[in-house]
Amino acid sequence: MAGNKDKNKNDGGASDHTSPYYIHASDYPRQLHVNDVLTDVNYNDWSQEMMNFLFAKKKVGFIDGSIKKPESSDATYMAWMRCGAMIKGWLNTAMEKEIRTSVKYAVTAQDIWSDLKERFGNTSAPRAYELKQSLMTTKQEGVSVSAYFTKLRSLWDEIQLVFPIPTCNCKGCSCEIGKQLYDFKQKEKLYEFLLGLDVEYTIRT
Ligand SMILES: [Zn+2]
Repeated sequence: MAGNKDKNKNDGGASDHTSPYYIHASDYPRQLHVNDVLTDVNYNDWSQEMMNFLFAKKKVGFIDGSIKKPESSDATYMAWMRCGAMIKGWLNTAMEKEIRTSVKYAVTAQDIWSDLKERFGNTSAPRAYELKQSLMTTKQEGVSVSAYFTKLRSLWDEIQLVFPIPTCNCKGCSCEIGKQLYDFKQKEKLYEFLLGLDVEYTIRT
């Protein structure tokens, strides 16, 4: 609609629902959009939920840095500032008071997001420990080998997510370090697999 287009020109997209700058009339900063607020122990679930919500709101670009802050002379500048403030409000509302206090000097929503990721994200040691524990106690116990393998696979996948074993990034890697890292990972999995089988295997060296 022509009328809408004219409007967008003035507000930098804030009233165009297809724009990432769109803010719905019912949106306000102190809205809780997750089931559980962020604590010391639930970052993975929390960030997933928050990410889904921001995705639905077309606001992921504000936390992953792909929607950069425009020059103050730009038509979208005010819309960007408003969205940023709104998202900061949503994030702040969705965390425990202690954590909120610890991020109060963050300038942008992206700063908050990456700070939380750094503190609670991937290298979450307690979760990795938990996963390693269940890996050790996962046994075939009468189920089929493929069912047992599937169970291990989901544990390996989550461990790789939470506590990744580094892989080499060199192009089409065939270097020695890359090869050793790969062998290590495969061997570790093989042992974990064999150890839980109902039938005992002898590993000859
Ligand atoms: Zn390599």
